[in-house]
Amino acid sequence: MRELESFIYKISSPQKIVITTHHKPDADALGSSLGLANFLKKKGHEVTVITPSDYPSFLHWMKGNSEVINFEDKTQQSKAASIINEATMIFCLDFSCPKRMQDMQDLVEKSHAYKVNIDHHQDPKDFTDFQYLSTKAAATCELVYELIVEIGDKNLIDKDIAECLYAGIMTDTGGFRHPNTTKNVHMITAELIGIGADNSKISRLIYDTNSINRLKFIGFAITRRLVIMEDLKTAFFAISKKDLRKYNSQTGDTEGLVNYALSLGGIKIAALFTEREDGVKISFRSTEDVAVNKFAATHFDGGGHKNASGGKSSLSLDDTTEKFQKLIKENYNILFNQAELIHEKN
Ligand code: 5GP
Ligand code: MN
Repeated sequence: MRELESFIYKISSPQKIVITTHHKPDADALGSSLGLANFLKKKGHEVTVITPSDYPSFLHWMKGNSEVINFEDKTQQSKAASIINEATMIFCLDFSCPKRMQDMQDLVEKSHAYKVNIDHHQDPKDFTDFQYLSTKAAATCELVYELIVEIGDKNLIDKDIAECLYAGIMTDTGGFRHPNTTKNVHMITAELIGIGADNSKISRLIYDTNSINRLKFIGFAITRRLVIMEDLKTAFFAISKKDLRKYNSQTGDTEGLVNYALSLGGIKIAALFTEREDGVKISFRSTEDVAVNKFAATHFDGGGHKNASGGKSSLSLDDTTEKFQKLIKENYNILFNQAELIHEKN
């Protein structure tokens, strides 16, 4: 593969590297960014991770976290902009649609740096010089691991790098429960544990560091904000700005909430509508045979994976959920019958 050769050639001499990821990074976005950053630093490059926004505090344990620049932090923006302008290489991780960089998009697109895209999302846009993409990969962290191995540097993966990569694979497979938990996933995580990743510690740091406010918020959401459309095999949460304020909600507090709706017996589509300053942010989840990514792309300016996708709406929270309920009714046959047909064929 020619592009791989030119990529290897490029990183064989010291570069000024910027690594970025999508807005509101999750464990895979941040873990792949910091895992790769720590690796590239070991190879002698100057590396800065710049995220388009902040991210949950349960990810702050990753090595290199304290040096990450949050582009939304106005006091850091001019410094971030000059680092991007001076970069000779820019890595875009865990997204393949430039829009997802939000306010950073323009700067990154205008840069003349050699650009690399490493990602596992569907329908990637071709916007970089080198693409390392696979929709079969469960996580971008899996691809970062494979790229490091492919270029012959497996021996440089240390405990810190292994722990960043392990975190992303663990969360993007839903704790090794989703259908994307392949043999390859287990082989790679076995290697990472072998290198020293403390899997039990990482699981605790990510899943078991709730604040009491967050637990109370989850209780409130399930009791008061869950709508179940049993006949349509659909359930959703609608969370207002006021609800978030009431529980002093922090970045990451709504993460995973949508899964409580999907955990209901008989429910195959779940959604979470969260009212934010700039509109309604939406998370969609579905069970194996129902695809929500096309639904998100067609109706809510979004996309993602078959069983986990997202989108947005500029309507009010009430109008957005009303639109959603109407669309589920109208598209019921497409969403469910087709899935059943595919299921029967297999
Ligand atoms: P989450 O619900 O956890 O925010 O996102 C679920 C999945 O959908 C993730 O893989 C995420 O990258 C993708 N996703 C979330 N929001 C958007 C969006 O607005 N556009 C696209 N293309 N994908 C999204
Ligand atoms: Mn991911």
